[in-house]
Amino acid sequence: MKFDAEVVVVCPFCHKATTIKVVEEDYLAWKYDGALIQNVMYYLPSADREVLISGLCYECQDEMFHCPEDDEPDDIDDDCGFDPYEGCFTFDC
Ligand SMILES: [Zn+2]
Repeated sequence: MKFDAEVVVVCPFCHKATTIKVVEEDYLAWKYDGALIQNVMYYLPSADREVLISGLCYECQDEMFHCPEDDEPDDIDDDCGFDPYEGCFTFDC
């Protein structure tokens, strides 16, 4: 797999730029051909996919969704175990 493109995303909340390395062909398939991001860019960490989808930087994602894999997280606590590089450890949520 060859990461041949970089996408710079500016966070809508803190205006910090996050650069995500992507495979251009896969990125274009998602962006323009309606492919599901988790299918074409399954190899990216979920936090990186979230940057592409929502534009939120890692820090703002962390603040907004302690458990991004949970649809309705309740009883959120600070020891959720969310690691922006690995996704949410749901057993801790
Ligand atoms: Zn941000």
